[in-house]
Amino acid sequence: MVQDSFISRCKQCGAKNRIPRSRVGEKAVCGKCRASLHFTAAYPQYAIDVNERTFDVEIIRFSGPVLVLFWAPWCGHCRILLPIVDELASEYSGLIKFAKIDLDKNPGLASQYQVQSAPTMIVFKNGRLVNRLLGALPKDQIVHHLRTLL
Ligand SMILES: [Zn+2]
Repeated sequence: MVQDSFISRCKQCGAKNRIPRSRVGEKAVCGKCRASLHFTAAYPQYAIDVNERTFDVEIIRFSGPVLVLFWAPWCGHCRILLPIVDELASEYSGLIKFAKIDLDKNPGLASQYQVQSAPTMIVFKNGRLVNRLLGALPKDQIVHHLRTLL
């Protein structure tokens, strides 16, 4: 999938604006209410792959909320959750960052965060662990938890 643009949600009116990646760093205004958009490629419209090498920069040093899905290729419930997390990344682009970590490839992170079952979602805010969601929760329950972050 080519990701040459992403959605930035206007903080004033809530409208979704599609921003081409080539325009990151330029000034932009909301197509609906003309408010300035403060967007950053830090909030892509899909869950980014994070590993032990990128974890610190992408999650711990990120100033804002991040939902991290710990998943595994052999896990059936994870296959249900992966597209839901991508959907949420699109819907909450500009507000919450979404990441996924393959447990098989990153056993160090799994043990550091005591992830004992897949799927496990861990929510960080400003680098601090704030919530842990176990199992393949339905989307509306995940949304319920995400709202507490905003
Ligand atoms: Zn707006």
